[in-house]
Amino acid sequence: MPFPSLGLSAPILRAIDEKGYITPFPIQTKAIPAILSGKDVMAAAQTGTGKTAGFTLPMLQRLAHGPRVKSNHVRALVLAPTRELAVQVTDSIETYGKYLNLKSGVVYGGVKINPQMMKLRSGVDTLVATPGRLLDLFRKNALKFGQVETLVLDEADRMLDMGFLGDIRKILDLLPKSRQNLLFSATFPTEIRTLTRDLFQNPVVIEVNPRNSAAKSVKQWAYEVDKSRKPALLCHLLHNNNWEQVLVFTRTKKGANRLVQQLASDGISSAAIHGDKSQGVRTRTLAEFKANTIRILVATDIAARGLDINELSHVVNFDLPKVAEDYIHRIGRTGRAGSVGVAISLVSADEVTLLSAIENLIRQNLVREVENGYIPKHSVPLTRLMKVRPKKPKKPKKPKQEQQNRSSRAISAKVGRLHKNKKS
Ligand code: AMP
Repeated sequence: MPFPSLGLSAPILRAIDEKGYITPFPIQTKAIPAILSGKDVMAAAQTGTGKTAGFTLPMLQRLAHGPRVKSNHVRALVLAPTRELAVQVTDSIETYGKYLNLKSGVVYGGVKINPQMMKLRSGVDTLVATPGRLLDLFRKNALKFGQVETLVLDEADRMLDMGFLGDIRKILDLLPKSRQNLLFSATFPTEIRTLTRDLFQNPVVIEVNPRNSAAKSVKQWAYEVDKSRKPALLCHLLHNNNWEQVLVFTRTKKGANRLVQQLASDGISSAAIHGDKSQGVRTRTLAEFKANTIRILVATDIAARGLDINELSHVVNFDLPKVAEDYIHRIGRTGRAGSVGVAISLVSADEVTLLSAIENLIRQNLVREVENGYIPKHSVPLTRLMKVRPKKPKKPKKPKQEQQNRSSRAISAKVGRLHKNKKS
């Protein structure tokens, strides 16, 4: 189905055309008509599926026909977990909305609040925000929510992982009750399901990748290696393979900095991106990575969340993530937009529990390899997938009338017994 048949208007189709998109991705085919018709949408979709266009295109089209935004007001509010994702979503809004007369804004923490307050004075049609900063702006009277007609929660699972649930609930309480709600999440842990129960009445549910399964276009395997030899193995792999662009994940900020130094001492230049780096440095590093000036980017999970890097060829898990679902987020950076990617994990014996949790989540054992010269002294114990027990079907409930009959029969029997006892 081509873009025009999804019901998008000419100014938006023109922007899509200039961007070079020819056919919509599955999530777009499903989400665009539903959102255009004003329905609530709940979608299980990872980064890389085209979800951003999936919600921004119809959202912009609906905004194009609405009332003028008043000062300090906002008409569509997009909540995102990180500054990087917030900036990327805003870029998409500006690209797709370039032929519409709409004002956009973006606010996030870690930078001065005053310029953001100034920007909001005249009101914005779309505002992309991280939850904490949004509340700060509201408390400073820089923002009013009375005109909000659409709310988007982007990467909802990650917002919860980052402890934003309380802030999100506060924000929900401040918004007008009648509005369109859109939620995108790679995974649906219990807290998200609870949140969606409160948020949605009758949403259109969209699932593009099977939930909790890794993208199919990613080739994944693991190298068994001793912990102390991981940096050397990574250098060896980087020297001996012609990998174009590599995103390396470490569990901690310290670990990321240390690895950059270790790579440098072996003549490999790389840069780290994590929460201790200033916003300016993070934006610059990302731009250099995208422009291919930096070939290797070392990142922590939180910093890497939502990075829009196209056709990234390789992801390396230098450390396995503590939370198994992060593995899916990590490898979602590669094999995007139809290209095949490679995700490699360096696994040491002490990480066997983490490995097993990941394998059980993605329902497959990772193929293991051992590199010549890096054979581990401590081999990683074998892992097995746990059997998933099929749910027992619930016994059908007895019809109400029959239940009543049964309880009244039980009562009469009891009464009968009492009479008998009295007589005897
Ligand atoms: P997202 O999942 O929103 O981060 O999008 C992943 C990438 O796919 C982005 O770089 C988009 O520019 C690109 N993209 C989105 N929709 C399309 C499409 N219909 N055709 C080609 N590329 C697309």
